[in-house]
Amino acid sequence: MKFTVVGAGAMGLRYGVLLQEAGNEVEFVDAWQPHVEKMKEQGGVYVKRDHENRHLVPVKVFYPEEYQNTDADVLVFFLKQMQLADMLERCKHFFTADQYVLTAMNGMGHVDKLLNYFKPEKLLAGTALVATVLDGPGEVDFIGKPGAGTMNLANYTEQPDEMTHKVVAELQKANFNPTLTTNFQGTLMAKVVFNSVVNTLCTLFEITMGEYAAFAKADELSVALINEAYDVCERAGIEMINTRQEELESVNYVSKVANPLHYPSMYQDMSKNRPTEVDYINGYLVKLGRKYHYEAHTHAFLTNLVHLAEHTRQHKA
Ligand code: NAD
Repeated sequence: MKFTVVGAGAMGLRYGVLLQEAGNEVEFVDAWQPHVEKMKEQGGVYVKRDHENRHLVPVKVFYPEEYQNTDADVLVFFLKQMQLADMLERCKHFFTADQYVLTAMNGMGHVDKLLNYFKPEKLLAGTALVATVLDGPGEVDFIGKPGAGTMNLANYTEQPDEMTHKVVAELQKANFNPTLTTNFQGTLMAKVVFNSVVNTLCTLFEITMGEYAAFAKADELSVALINEAYDVCERAGIEMINTRQEELESVNYVSKVANPLHYPSMYQDMSKNRPTEVDYINGYLVKLGRKYHYEAHTHAFLTNLVHLAEHTRQHKA
């Protein structure tokens, strides 16, 4: 199968490199100049696994404007939410009506933007429960042993077709441990809710997930945020894949057992003085609640706190 990965950052590289190593043809499109130049100069990307075994993986990388290939079966999108609209406009010359789209970006906002360019029946979106760090231009670190991490995905139409199963089979070969569901909104929102607790609080307090979970009152904080998020989702008619209690257990399991030493990706953005995706996580819950005349006060407050932290860092920088 041929994949074009749009956004060769941490996750785009992880998906692209592992799909390539599983026998697929993969090309990358990216717009961050120092990173693209570095990969072109060194003939690929340096990949580490848990900070070790640094080795060069050859990759084909292009700027949006120079990429003219329209023969990819699947376009894979891994950008930060706020980068997507601009990148779609810069890339639209190589999109075709037959292409499938796969994404596992965090937050919500990307689906509507992708549907401006692609048919609903071609859209596969999900969540990736795995951590990857872009150490700098041309350098990526895949956290976790091969086969660590899982992903959930669903068709926008909730009707898997033959191509969906082929894509899932390639993801399985590449060791992403995919689970296909037929609940699109519920699948995506499970991670929005998870991130609205762990990503946001760990970012604000500059702590790992394990440090958060070890705090005596962590469950109280988590439950308050989960309850408010579920109140929003219920009003929006979203059928969640987990109960509130299961969502709390998932927060605890991932933070205490699976990734205790990990700083979430929002923290990584904050520490690099990059904008965070908070408007698409807690902020999305606030926006969705208001559509149904419900005020998600705690998520609104946290969204503002993250913006205050972004503002403060910029001010100090
Ligand atoms: P990323 O920031 O590594 O890359 C996204 C884009 O930003 C790429 O085009 C990259 O080249 C560019 N970029 C990276 N650093 C930059 C810099 N300093 N200046 C300018 N441009 C820069 O993002 P990611 O971690 O791959 O995340 C993509 C999506 O996947 C997001 O929605 C994220 O929340 C989600 N996600 C990330 C992880 C993770 O562990 N990294 C896990 C699950 C989901």
